[in-house]
Amino acid sequence: MHQISQNPFKKLNLRSQRIFVVALSVVVLSIILSLSILSNQNQRDVTPDVSNPITIKYQVDGNYPPFSYVHENDLVGFDFYLTNIIFPSNLYILDYSTDTWDNVYQRIKEGQIDIAGVIAVNEQRKEDVLFTKTLFRSFVSVFTRHDFNITSVNDLKDYRIGVGKGYYTENILRDELKLDYIAYTDVNQAILDLKDGKIDALFENDQLIKTLLIKQELTGTIVEQITDLYPRDHAYAVSKSRPELVAYMNTRIDELQRSGVFEEIYLNFFYENSDTYINQRNQSIVLWVVALLFGSILLFRSLQRVIRELKIRLSQKVTELEHANLELRDRYSEIRSLAYFNQVTNLPNRNQLRHDLSLLTRTPDAKAVLIMVDLEHFNEINDAYGHRTGDRVLRIMTDRFRSIVPEEGKLYNLTSQQFVFVGQPLNREIFSTKAQEILSAIHQPIQVDEHLIHLNSSMGIVFYPEHGNSFDELISCVDIAMLETKRHRRGEFTIYNEHMGQMFQERLNLIKHLRDALHRDAFELHYQPIVQSIDLKPVGFEALIRYRHPTKGLQFPNNFMDVLEESQLIVPVGYWIMETACRFITDYNAINATDLSVSINISSIQLLHDDFIQNVTEVLNHTPCKIQNIVFEITESVTLENVDLAIERLHALRTMGIQIAIDDFGTGYSSLSYIKDLPLDIIKIDKAFVQSIHESQKNHSVAQTIVSIGHALGLTLIAEGVETTEQHQILLALGCDRIQGYLISKPNPASYFLQASSTSNPDAM
Ligand code: C2E
Ligand code: CA
Ligand code: CA
Repeated sequence: MHQISQNPFKKLNLRSQRIFVVALSVVVLSIILSLSILSNQNQRDVTPDVSNPITIKYQVDGNYPPFSYVHENDLVGFDFYLTNIIFPSNLYILDYSTDTWDNVYQRIKEGQIDIAGVIAVNEQRKEDVLFTKTLFRSFVSVFTRHDFNITSVNDLKDYRIGVGKGYYTENILRDELKLDYIAYTDVNQAILDLKDGKIDALFENDQLIKTLLIKQELTGTIVEQITDLYPRDHAYAVSKSRPELVAYMNTRIDELQRSGVFEEIYLNFFYENSDTYINQRNQSIVLWVVALLFGSILLFRSLQRVIRELKIRLSQKVTELEHANLELRDRYSEIRSLAYFNQVTNLPNRNQLRHDLSLLTRTPDAKAVLIMVDLEHFNEINDAYGHRTGDRVLRIMTDRFRSIVPEEGKLYNLTSQQFVFVGQPLNREIFSTKAQEILSAIHQPIQVDEHLIHLNSSMGIVFYPEHGNSFDELISCVDIAMLETKRHRRGEFTIYNEHMGQMFQERLNLIKHLRDALHRDAFELHYQPIVQSIDLKPVGFEALIRYRHPTKGLQFPNNFMDVLEESQLIVPVGYWIMETACRFITDYNAINATDLSVSINISSIQLLHDDFIQNVTEVLNHTPCKIQNIVFEITESVTLENVDLAIERLHALRTMGIQIAIDDFGTGYSSLSYIKDLPLDIIKIDKAFVQSIHESQKNHSVAQTIVSIGHALGLTLIAEGVETTEQHQILLALGCDRIQGYLISKPNPASYFLQASSTSNPDAM
């Protein structure tokens, strides 16, 4: 038995600095660990006491590197290091020594020593000794010279095999493989014999031989031929007499393995990771994989749940969206129908026409005809019979129109009384037939309840692309054509032409000018004297309006009056006329000490305007004019448009003291009989009768009749447009009270009469 120094670290010349550092750290760790053990010592089988350390008899094979071997007189190796850490020096005295394996094993069997180091576990040994838990697993390899070739363990029987005497490997050869072998007490000798060809193979623990080969510098000469044979668990062999040590050591080994200290030591001696470590690592990898898998499953599950919830919510949202969508669609069609359909006739409206025309104008080679129909005075039906009746009339009219529109055509309802037909352009004949059909559909009376309603219309017609390339152009052209019908061909139709367009443009410009004419003082009133037929004594003046155009000079009413009326500008301009005429006659009478009257032409638009009576009252209030010196001239047509209101207004005016004259008498539709219902003072015989009175018997008799009826009604008669003495004489003979015309004087500006009269110029009249 080799006795070695008690302190294993005192004289240790370690193989390398690294081992020392690791060993030191391992020792420090072991101290920390032993302190923790101390705190739990009650639970332990062995209860070491610092004051009374326990002696452990530890003996190992001195030539079994890297497990245990002697180096420069000191015991070193994995086994020894680990044992020192398992048994901290403050608590245990490690009584250590080495011997050949044969002897060591004999001693442990007999209980002469407590621990025999880390050895391979086999059934036979289990009978002899106790084992701690497995520290690692070790393998057997077959080593040969490098030029030798053995591929299978079965071939070993043909060779001379060496093995360590008493080693577990010997047991395998003998008991399991049942082979002959040479057992070496010193394995180093076996290696040398192998090198020298005294044996062919070495059957031994691979870690042991590899370490020895390095030591003997025979790596490469002797090589591993068959590896990883007979794996054997390795554990501490403990004497059966010290079973309490097994429990203690197992706890320590567990601690060391968990803390990584074991692995550090193992790595230092075997230059590879221990299978414990590998197992642990594999286990932890497996654990990680399991955890990952489990986590993934959990994640997957929760994701599935989340997805399921999301799906439910999504489908709820989809349903909600679908509902919203349906609602939107309903709303949309509602809005669309409001935006694109007339609510009364259910026909597409102006917006739809705009849309359809924009499509049409984008279609190459497209042609179309647009017929615009305006139901005249339709609002009066609403006013007279109520909107319900008006709507029914429109629906009946729509049905009639629908039956006329050809299949490829389309019918629109732009405003309540405006309809548009769009169709293929037909040749003129067919086209006029269609237009006539529309007209007769309109003219056919409509029976609504007890009312029989007659309608009239104006129609305008345009062609695409001749008359315009866009909705706006086409609509403005068809409007122009329709206005033209209104002005000149009531109840018929007009096909648009370029001349109309020019005229219309001029009218537009004129309207523009007329709008600010009042501010520019561009209007003037001229006055034409009215005299007694019998002695040509002046009785009054007729005020006649003139407009001074910025470029064209003085304009007569026939050039602008209809524009003033259509644009309603006649209302403010009419106010100015009344005011100006009143001032004139006041001034004239004041200057000349006369009591002449002024005749003011009142258009139907003015008369029927809501503010008319109020306007008249205002004018009379702020001009010092005598009411009885004012005559309002109205034409027959005034009374035709809204008979009741017109008569009502005339009565009101007359009650105020204003005289009423009916102008241009004999030209209109009115019959002589109806004038008896009008509140009149004067009848003015139209100049058309006057001017041919001397040559046309017919006109003569008309004039004669007018005079006699007028007189019969107690009215004053004025003949206008008297240019010749002859005309004057005839009218005088007919008994016409007053005359007016170029024979007496042309219309002249106010200044002409006011200055002239102030200088007593007799020509002024
Ligand atoms: P009216 O009321 O019949 O006026 C008479 C028209 O005959 C005037 O034309 C006058 O200048 C013209 N005249 C007068 N004597 C003769 C004559 O001997 N021979 C011929 N050939 N014509 C004569 P004017 O001034 O061009 O007015 C035309 C029409 O314009 C008027 O016809 C009247 O209806 C309208 N008008 C004129 N001034 C006003 C006005 O201030 N307000 C309104 N509402 N209408 C007006
Ligand atoms: Ca007149
Ligand atoms: Ca007249």
